[in-house]
This record gives sequence, C-alpha cells and structure tokens, in this order.
Amino acid sequence: MPRLEIALSQIRDNASVLLELFGQKGISLMGVSKAVLGEPLIARAMTEAGIQTIADSRIENIERMKKAGIVASFVLLRTPLSRAQAIVESADISLNTEMGTLNELSSCAKKIGKIHQVIIMVELGDLREGVLPCDLSQFIKNAQCLSNIKIAGIGCNLACYGGIEPSDKNMRKLSILCESIETEFQLKLKFISGGNSANYKWCHSTSDIGRINNLRLGEAILLGCETVSRTPISGLHTHAFQLVAEVIESKIKPSLPDGKRFQDAFGNTPDFQDNGNCRRAIIALGRQDVALSGLKANKALTILGASSDHLIVEDYHHLKVGDEVKFDLNYSGLLSAMTSPFIKKQFFT
Ligand SMILES: *Cc1c(COP(=O)(O)O)cnc(C)c1O
Repeated sequence: MPRLEIALSQIRDNASVLLELFGQKGISLMGVSKAVLGEPLIARAMTEAGIQTIADSRIENIERMKKAGIVASFVLLRTPLSRAQAIVESADISLNTEMGTLNELSSCAKKIGKIHQVIIMVELGDLREGVLPCDLSQFIKNAQCLSNIKIAGIGCNLACYGGIEPSDKNMRKLSILCESIETEFQLKLKFISGGNSANYKWCHSTSDIGRINNLRLGEAILLGCETVSRTPISGLHTHAFQLVAEVIESKIKPSLPDGKRFQDAFGNTPDFQDNGNCRRAIIALGRQDVALSGLKANKALTILGASSDHLIVEDYHHLKVGDEVKFDLNYSGLLSAMTSPFIKKQFFT
C-alpha cells in the first residue's frame, strides 16, 4: 500500500458501450491511454472491446504498448519536433499544427521508407493546439508538398485549456472546414476528429453531427463520465479505479492548530475553524502520490488536508491503525496516482 485497484473488465465494458453508442451515429473512437501512461493491460482492455486505434500524448507510452504486443493503430496526440525520428518509427498517425515539424517528420519518414499520416488540428476557440481556420488551406497546401506525409484528416480539441464546450456552432465549423478542404484539394479526409470526452453531450443532443466521424476518448472510457460537467454516462462503470491506503494514526485532537500561524509545507497560510475536538486519522498517502483535489472520499470521512506523505482526515467511523481506506479518483487523481512510483497498481481481470 498504497495501491491502485484497477478493474480491467469495467474498462472493457465502458469501451464497448461507448463504441456501440458512438458507432450508431457513425463516429469511430480512438481510445486515449495517456492518463494511464500507456499501461498495456488497460490498452488491451480497450482493444478487446473492439477499439482499433489507441492514442497517447507520449511516444514512450506508444513504444511501451507496442513492445507489450498491443495490436492497434497508434496515434500520437502531441508531436515534439525533437522526437520526429522516434515518432515516425512508432506512431502511425500524429496530430500536428506546425509546418517545421511536418517537414522533419517527412524527412525522417523518408529515411526509413515510410509514409507518416497526420491529422491537422484546427483552433476552434479553446486556445490549446490548432492552426487558425484562416490559415488551414495554405497549411494543407504546404503539407501536401511533403513527400512522406499523408494528410489523414483534420481535428480539434476543446474543453482542455479554455474550458470551451463542444457545440453545434464549433462542430459545424469543423464540418465546413472539412468540406472546403476536400473540395479545394480534391481529397477525402479519413478522420474528422471532433474532440474528446467533452463531446459526449453535444453528440448525444445534436440533431446533426455533420461530417464529424471520430472522437478521441480517455476519461469517458476510464472513469465513465463526460467532461463538460463531469456527469456519469449512463451504462458506464465509474469506479474502475480505486485508491487504497492505510491508516497510520487515529486520535481525538482539537480542530484548531495551536500557536502563531505562518506558512504550511507548501507556502500556503491555511485557515481553520474551531469545531472543538474531533476524531482525526492520518492515512499514509500524500501529495507526492496523488493530487489532493483528485481524491474523493466516501461518507465515512472528510479530507482535511495533506502534506507530502500524510493525508489528514476527519473520521466519523472510528478508523483503526492498519485499516484500509478506499478513495474514488477524478481525472487529476487518476493521472497523479498512475504516475506515482509509490502506488502499486493491482489489476483485476
Ligand atoms: C488527452 C486528449 C484527449 C482525450 O481527452 P479525454 O478528456 O480524456 O477524453 C483527446 N485529444 C487530445 C488531443 C488529448 O490531448
């Protein structure tokens, strides 16, 4: 302990329900594995459900999955120029927004006799990655001149940096861009990739998906929720990941610290209310393991705070030293817990 319990069958179920749900609308899925560091057992749960394309933001994760024998088409979500050689070797497709990077990808691909496919990302309001819509046509024109690059599609990403919701308006814009590119360059785009788990509500409620034919889903598959308002998606498991840690102290203590108050270990000056004495437990888990805001406690306790390695909770059920406590995780909790080398990952089939 601490350990992360991972229910692979629940992840597989989620992927399969989502494939069916979006498939009915003509939308294919990429299963996004970055939050789980490309963990091959989780990627396999996705492919067993029928997902044929796995996307990750790090080439190391893609290399890891390939080495483990995951059979899928691999998409790199974030494309650094300096890794061009590794990218063309291991990824089938990458998302791109910079001509200099495409140049380098093309010449690296040429060296090994490959054609590297790219999806050009378009900026539609969220202000993370994307070519501006007014520059897209010229960008595609230039990209088409590269000998070892094939344009596989266009895409956009919303609700990540700016928190901008996928809507009929921005999705229609992507469809219109797709049609004008297809007409201008006499080509057929294979992927019109409208976004991520935040696109669920739009897709569910729209009367017309337009030309959108692909989404890239991580959180919806892993945690079973959409990401505009973090509502669980009906029919999906939302507890596939559970973090378990151990109680190391349990005592009645005052709720108000005693003495002149300065900064805590992280430079914050916390405020406290005097609620008299209460039962407090310390759990062997800390900020070095997991983002505090990413932990969801059950009703038996309230999280009061944490330092690097001590999580302090108010305890209503009289936890004893050595007891195990389980937490649900949100996306930042999952990301951090998967990344902590101190948290053991335990898989259930
Ligand atoms: C992380 C990421 C996704 C997946 O996002 P979720 O919210 O986990 O579905 C999709 N596309 C891109 C470009 C990403 O970086």
